[in-house]
Amino acid sequence: MQERPTVLFIGGHDPSGGAGIQADIETAQALGCRAASLVTCLTTQDSRNVRALHPQPAEDLLSQLDCLLADIRPQAIKIGLLGSAQVIPSLAERLATPGVPLVLDPVLAASGGQRLADERLVTAIRRHLLPLTTLLTPNRAEARRLAMTAEPDTAARELRGLGAGAVLLTGADEARGDQVINRLFHETGEQDFNWPRLPHSYHGSGCTLAAACACGLARCGDLVSVTEQAQAWTWQALAHAEHPGHGQWLPRHLAETEP
Ligand code: PLP
Repeated sequence: MQERPTVLFIGGHDPSGGAGIQADIETAQALGCRAASLVTCLTTQDSRNVRALHPQPAEDLLSQLDCLLADIRPQAIKIGLLGSAQVIPSLAERLATPGVPLVLDPVLAASGGQRLADERLVTAIRRHLLPLTTLLTPNRAEARRLAMTAEPDTAARELRGLGAGAVLLTGADEARGDQVINRLFHETGEQDFNWPRLPHSYHGSGCTLAAACACGLARCGDLVSVTEQAQAWTWQALAHAEHPGHGQWLPRHLAETEP
C-alpha cells in the first residue's frame, strides 16, 4: 500500500469532539492523510460555547514539536487555536520550513461567542505567522479583527499584503439569504464559491475546512481546486451533522467509512 502524506495539526482539544484537533484528525483520516498532532491547549467547552482555555506551557509544546520534527517531516501543517501569544515567536521560527505549505485558521472567537484570543495573540499572529502562511482561512469577523479593517474584502487583501499567500474568506458567519459565499483571494485573482446555506448552526466547520485544505495541499493539489474540494467535502460533513447535545450541530467527518 502507498504511504499516506503526513499533515501536522497544531491546535486545541475540544471535548465535544466537533472542533479542534479531533476534527483535524478525523478529517485527515477521511481524506487519506496521516495526522500528527500537537495540542496547544485543553478547553472547557460543550456544543454550546467555550468556557475556558488551559494552554500548555510554551516550553512543553516546543519540546514536543522539536522531538517530532527531528523525526518526521510533514507534507503540510495546519495551525488552529493557539490559546496563548507567548509560544508564537518560537513556533514561527521552527515552522519556517520552505516547501511545507502552512494553513492557518485564525481561531479568534468561538461561534458560540466566547473570545479565544486577546490583542497580544492577534498581534503575534500578524507579525510572526502571516508571513509563513500559504493559506489563511478566516471568517469575516476574524479577517476584520486580524487586519484591523472594517470591510472584509479589504481586510482579506490587506492580510495578503501582510504575507499570507492566499486568503479563503468564509461567509457563513454573516450569511444572509439561502447562499453562503466564500471568496478566495490569491496570487492571480479572486474567486467566489457559492454554497446552499444549511439549516443549523455548526461547531467546528472552520476547523474542518482548514484541515481539509491542509490535506489537499499535502497531496500537492493546486490551490484553487484544493480549496474548492475542501469546501465541497466540508459541506457534506455539515449536511450529515449530528446533534448529540443541546447546542450547535457537530460535523460528521467519517460518514463515508461508517458501516
Ligand atoms: N475549540 C477549539 C479547540 C477550536 O479549535 C475551535 C475552532 O477552531 C473552537 C473551539 C471554536 O469552534 P467554532 O467556531 O466552530 O464554534
